[in-house]
Amino acid sequence: MKRVHNFSAGPAILPLEVLQKAQAELVDYQGTGTSIMEKSHRGPEYTKIDAEARERLSRILGLGDDFEIMFLQGGASTQFFSVPFNFLSKGETADYINTGTWSKKSIKEAQLFGSVNEAFSSAESNFSKVPASSELKLTPNAKYVHFTSNNTIFGTQFPSEPETNGVPLVCDASSDFLSRPIDVDKYGMIYSGAQKNLGPAGVTVVIIRKSFLATANKPSVPTMVNYKTHAEGAMFNTPPTFAVYMVNLVLEWIESNGGLNAFKLLNEEKSALLYNEIDADDFYRGTVEEASRSNMNVCFRLGTEELEAEFLKEAATHELVALKGHRSVGGVRASIYNACPKDSVEALASFMREFKAMKG
Ligand code: PMP
Repeated sequence: MKRVHNFSAGPAILPLEVLQKAQAELVDYQGTGTSIMEKSHRGPEYTKIDAEARERLSRILGLGDDFEIMFLQGGASTQFFSVPFNFLSKGETADYINTGTWSKKSIKEAQLFGSVNEAFSSAESNFSKVPASSELKLTPNAKYVHFTSNNTIFGTQFPSEPETNGVPLVCDASSDFLSRPIDVDKYGMIYSGAQKNLGPAGVTVVIIRKSFLATANKPSVPTMVNYKTHAEGAMFNTPPTFAVYMVNLVLEWIESNGGLNAFKLLNEEKSALLYNEIDADDFYRGTVEEASRSNMNVCFRLGTEELEAEFLKEAATHELVALKGHRSVGGVRASIYNACPKDSVEALASFMREFKAMKG
């Protein structure tokens, strides 16, 4: 078996022991003679997995009884319109913090349903920063404040939740979900596609505070998009059972490796290894203001695009793969989510020194 150092932005690397457990159980799930993929979502095996995943997620995040957890489909992109479909009416305003591509997409959808106030935008600096709370121009009585906790493409991350003076936060946490503890009291809703920190593509985790959900009283919301359809573990239709099974294994792995406090430390250590190389001199150039740097997606440039192409090609010969920046911005991006081992990050840091010595 060969495993390379995988820095894919998503779908991303999964813990090896999770893949191996899934492999061992794939054909004959726990002596039942069928794969978990081949079982009814209403049967005892899958309903146990579904319940276990909810309990684990609730425990890991410290959600208590205040939140509904839903395993939905359609990716985070479906949440961009589902949020305002449920929560925003004509004549109402929601505040959106624009930190680049994904925020812009969520704003575009929200404008179909109500009024959007862009409370902050870093467009002028090509999205090189996230705002301090003092920079936010919030609307009094906004329905909610939406933010992207980590921008996967630009490599920015909020160091902590924006202060909204009690207005519920709605967070697209797709690229840093479960990478560190969060202050759940501040959130009305958190959503995340699974395919970076949580499992394979195909399931989107949606967490909604019950009291916030109670404010979603719009008529004419189609059944599948209506969050209330999916509350209380309703399983209205067939969930993506294999993806949820995988998520449950990843949650088990997170707990057995010390939970969110342990991953916060590990993720800070890993990203520091790369930012130290970037900051060493001018050979590598970070694209993000220091206080806004992401611990998940480390983005940097080299002197020319030709040199960047050479870097990527040479890296691949060292089994360091999927380092190309997003097609919209170019450069180099190392995505180092929870499951990316420190060994891989050390190998990349060492290669960065080697390449500089060769070309610098
Ligand atoms: N939000 C963020 C922060 C993302 O990184 C992505 C995907 N890379 C999305 C939303 C869109 O997610 P999906 O492809 O699951 O719709």
